[in-house]
Amino acid sequence: MRKILLIHTGGTIGMEGQDHLEPGHYATALVEQLPEYVGFAKIDSAILCNLDSSDIGPAQWTALTKMIASQRNHYDGFIVVHGTDTMPYTASACAFALEGLDKPVVFTGAQRPLGALRNDARRNLADSIEIATLDIPEVGICFDGLLMRGCRTCKVNTRAYHAFDSPGCEPLAKLGVDITLGKHIRRPTAPFRCSPSFDANVMAIHVTPGLQLNTLYRLLDGERCLDGIVLIPFGVGTIPCAESNLASFVSRATAQGIDVLVANASVGKIDLNLYENSRGLLEAGAISGGEMRLEAALVKLMHACATYPNRDERLEYLRWNVAGELE
Ligand code: ASP
Repeated sequence: MRKILLIHTGGTIGMEGQDHLEPGHYATALVEQLPEYVGFAKIDSAILCNLDSSDIGPAQWTALTKMIASQRNHYDGFIVVHGTDTMPYTASACAFALEGLDKPVVFTGAQRPLGALRNDARRNLADSIEIATLDIPEVGICFDGLLMRGCRTCKVNTRAYHAFDSPGCEPLAKLGVDITLGKHIRRPTAPFRCSPSFDANVMAIHVTPGLQLNTLYRLLDGERCLDGIVLIPFGVGTIPCAESNLASFVSRATAQGIDVLVANASVGKIDLNLYENSRGLLEAGAISGGEMRLEAALVKLMHACATYPNRDERLEYLRWNVAGELE
């Protein structure tokens, strides 16, 4: 029988409350709700934390990836129970930190708690258990009948059971009457390696009309507080150039050794060569984030800054398609 480790981190799935939802009493409750799976797989559980996922960040990513790495030889697959709000960030952290992963790491959660009527928790958990027994050596998010690549997924709906999408990346698996696997499931090409560090001195800047250059320059004044910036431009990579040129901020940042990674606000690939209003970013030393959206780009940059102190190695890593995040 296949062995699965279910790691609880919190989220609505296990929450309770009258006026507002908060992390509830969690023990072995989740697995106990699915007695029909007892003979299907051997499921152990561990509690990493019990938090609303808005409180989950680099410290928990490190603890989680270390836990999976240390248990890797004892289990065939992992399920991570997690709140939906920041699930794509944590899934991206696992995808980047667990290089050469050879087993499924399946994130799931729910829009309605397991204890509520008409919830989506039961199905998401049951689907995740089946997925965790299959030969899918990727970090995925299993939700509403789909398994999506974790580092390509974003939360798209707070009020529907279809809470996640992976724009531009077909699901790794569809769970209907049968389970259909995608042909693009990745296989490890390097030996397993866990590098669980993340640099929190990375921030995202969303380019919007009227953004003031002087405000941005203040981020670069005084004692250095940033190691990286994820820049989210318009369209495929355009920025305001006419009145004040945002590329000059990027030049100043890169000259200070701060990496600037350009991420996508919509569906499609960043192309800094296509418009005159994006070429300045390239000339200023910004790095194209390909198809990455904010979640994956931010975590990849945090991981790169913590793992590769040498700038050339860091830039090479950022341009490398580590887990299918770039295309
Ligand atoms: N606020 C919750 C969380 O992310 C939402 C959820 O789980 O759906 O922990």
